[in-house]
Amino acid sequence: MIGPELERLIHLLAKLPGLGPRSARRAALELLKKREQLLQPLAAAMVEADAKLVTCPVCHNLDVQSPCGICQDTKREPDLLCVVEDVADLWALERTRAFKGRYHVLGGVLSALAGITPQVLKIDKLIMRAKEMQAREVLLALSATVDGQATAHFVADRLREEGIAATRLGHGMPVGGELDYLDEGTLMAALAARRVA
Ligand SMILES: [Zn+2]
Repeated sequence: MIGPELERLIHLLAKLPGLGPRSARRAALELLKKREQLLQPLAAAMVEADAKLVTCPVCHNLDVQSPCGICQDTKREPDLLCVVEDVADLWALERTRAFKGRYHVLGGVLSALAGITPQVLKIDKLIMRAKEMQAREVLLALSATVDGQATAHFVADRLREEGIAATRLGHGMPVGGELDYLDEGTLMAALAARRVA
């Protein structure tokens, strides 16, 4: 019924988080209805993002410079590290302006079911980094999901073996809550109330 070009566009859009086949079809139609206002600028923005954005080799944040702006920011506390699952969580914490250290983006959480092991997440690299920066505190700002908390426990144990203090977000984090979905006030309260992991 529809050509392979449109089918491909819908197929790719459907891979985006939050979009299923139905919403991908609607998004594709909307793009094609608004070629000049939406489709063309979006295509150009995607090409530019692909060309300019790089993953920071130190913390795995996304930025146009490498190492990223946060890693290069000398005003940040040098011995405070925050571990997050995803860049979106880093953005959420940055929006609060309440955290003054640097980050380590894990790129996922441990999951036996999905085959995500400590090796996949390069936990060794994180422990090494915490040791090298002589971290006085590593805040494990992971989601309050089962996998997120299991990951926090695992990393906290590894840090303890190295004599490094690990903390996690305090009250305000709803059970099952994903960091990125919390409003800034809740996240700030959770940051202020952090406790030993
Ligand atoms: Zn960085």
